[in-house]
Amino acid sequence: MKQLRPGRVPAGSGRDHGVRALGRIVVKFGGTSVATVERIRQAARHVKREVDAGHEVAVVVSAMSGKTNELVGWVNEASKRHDAREYDAVVASGEQVTAGLMAIVLSEMGIPSRSYQGWQVPIRTDDAHGAARIVEIDPTELEQTFAEGVVPVITGFQGIAPSGRVTTLGRGGSDTSAVAVAAAVKADRCDIYTDVDGVYTTDPRITSKARRLTRISFEEMLEMASLGAKVLMIRSVEMAMAHKVRLTVRSTFDDPTAPQVAPDGTPGVPGTLVCDEDEIMEKQIVSGVTLARAESKITLRDVKDRPGIAASIFGALADESIVVDMIVQNVSEDGSTTDITFTVPDAEHDKAVKALQAAGEAGKFLYSKIQSAKGGAKVSVVGVGMRNHAGVAASMFKALADKSINIQLITTSEIKTSVLIDDEYAELAVRALHTYYGLDNEDA
Ligand code: ADP
Ligand code: ASP
Ligand code: MG
Repeated sequence: MKQLRPGRVPAGSGRDHGVRALGRIVVKFGGTSVATVERIRQAARHVKREVDAGHEVAVVVSAMSGKTNELVGWVNEASKRHDAREYDAVVASGEQVTAGLMAIVLSEMGIPSRSYQGWQVPIRTDDAHGAARIVEIDPTELEQTFAEGVVPVITGFQGIAPSGRVTTLGRGGSDTSAVAVAAAVKADRCDIYTDVDGVYTTDPRITSKARRLTRISFEEMLEMASLGAKVLMIRSVEMAMAHKVRLTVRSTFDDPTAPQVAPDGTPGVPGTLVCDEDEIMEKQIVSGVTLARAESKITLRDVKDRPGIAASIFGALADESIVVDMIVQNVSEDGSTTDITFTVPDAEHDKAVKALQAAGEAGKFLYSKIQSAKGGAKVSVVGVGMRNHAGVAASMFKALADKSINIQLITTSEIKTSVLIDDEYAELAVRALHTYYGLDNEDA
């Protein structure tokens, strides 16, 4: 976000001379948390607990689980021609339903509440329909609502473009809405309620030995989210890091009336805290293992080598807004030609191959052939401790070799190492690395 106007406390707002006696919390409920009216009631009980404790609370909701997929399906059924603006008009509707229902349920429990759609807040975005970025949230309306002792329930995932049309933020976008609202109203915390009770060392659906992390740094969470841990949307972590929003991930299924105890036994949020690295005492070399499926590998063979060749190849892909991930270049013995291999999501495979063929025909570069394969799996290990420890990549390759898993591509950065492997071995690789780096929960 370019700008977040500072929160304003209206005079006589019920707060003590503009000084907040108690905290302000933004709580976000994901699809499973609002999947039925009964689940919405359960979620509302968490809100009630916070309100009863004297906090000011703003709620952000997703659509009921499965709803957004259904809406996307209808859009695709209606026409092959993609109209991004009408796509947004349709898919944003799921959140409108849950925001209204949550406000009704809260009011029924004796907590004054009202719903807000993105444009009513307003949550201003750019005009990139389907993948819009939040530009600004004016907190004035929300401040007024807090001052009146009313709980605002805001639709996640959506906003309003400069043109006045409804936009959506991309799949999983409600996390980002919640963090943006938390930054705009200067909340003390943003609690993300979901179907797991925190961030785990790996997706708990892959291994029952995954261990819940008490804390994880913004940097590690950002890498994990980028590398396939979809528990939080990448943008939401970026935004929390930029605006120093204290973010927690916790379970919607916890007893809403139970005492609130953090994993370390102190009073607090019973989930994972995503925070600054300084707040984490014990830095692990590897904190987590992630898996991203449906990765395509594309190779351009015998590319005539000359300065600027990579720029023309990847420029052709960038022009089509295709995000390239792992890149490997091999130069022939005499240096005259090179093979370039890279990965893109399977969904972008056809578009990428077409863009390369077109750029080749236009004479932007010379090559002998394009080879490609869909359905690869990218397995990564992430940890801030890697900064000061050599040899993590080497030990990772050994752990995979011990299981006879062949590595096709490798990339590393300061705090992660990723490999592309055959999808057939994806879960085996995750489990093997999880054990190898001592992450297994032995009680499981
Ligand atoms: P919501 O609908 O609440 O936004 P999501 O499905 O987007 O929930 O995110 C929660 C899911 O993320 C979990 O059910 C879990 O399977 C998955 N997940 C992937 N990686 C991890 C991880 N490292 N820790 C926790 N959950 C993870
Ligand atoms: N409902 C949207 C989706 O399914 C946004 C979200 O749940 O975060 O992607
Ligand atoms: Mg989500």
